[in-house]
Amino acid sequence: MITGPGLLFVVSGPSGAGKDTLVEALRAHLPRLRYSVSATTRAPRPGECEGEHYFFLTREAFEARRAHDGFLEWREYNGQLYGTPRDYVERTLAEGYDLIVKPEVHGALAIKSAYPDAVLIFLVPDRFSHLRERLLARRTETNEEIARRLEIAREEMRFIRNFDYLVINEQGNSETAMRDLGAILHAERFRIHRFGDESLGTIVRT
Ligand code: 5GP
Repeated sequence: MITGPGLLFVVSGPSGAGKDTLVEALRAHLPRLRYSVSATTRAPRPGECEGEHYFFLTREAFEARRAHDGFLEWREYNGQLYGTPRDYVERTLAEGYDLIVKPEVHGALAIKSAYPDAVLIFLVPDRFSHLRERLLARRTETNEEIARRLEIAREEMRFIRNFDYLVINEQGNSETAMRDLGAILHAERFRIHRFGDESLGTIVRT
């Protein structure tokens, strides 16, 4: 019934809100949902794999790719470059697959400009102070980096109203956030403009 290009879901929100964990869990439940791996110049964290968590590029390689219009959007975050590869997004949507990306807030807004149909979801913890706790608990950043990420997070919170949906990732209850996120993805497929004239015609005439 639903034809045409896939849907583009953008899950954004401050660092420490739980984007990675939630999106990973969701993908395990929705195997047809594609996920775009971003490129970054930041160093891999322990356990992160090339091509799975990120494409880890040197700044030169990133800039060369950017110069060739290789990114749908890119952003400098905390002194490092991050970008969404353009090819993969365009190809996946054209093939009719739904796709999820998880950039920081300005990247999300840039994607909305390029794809006005994109669904923008803002993920937040139930309290701002939980961001710090989560960043401390994952032990991947220095105290200075955490302080900087929290500063950026404060700034990012100002853009909540530019998003289509808000999902609250309550401490100790991420199942609810996952269910809410899943419900948004599910409901979006049934918006009337997602149905092609042909399939609606069949329903009406037969
Ligand atoms: P991290 O270093 O924690 O993996 O990511 C830092 C921030 O960069 C997070 O908010 C993450 O969502 C964001 N990010 C990851 N990939 C991209 C991307 O392709 N574009 C943009 N604009 N932000 C990204």
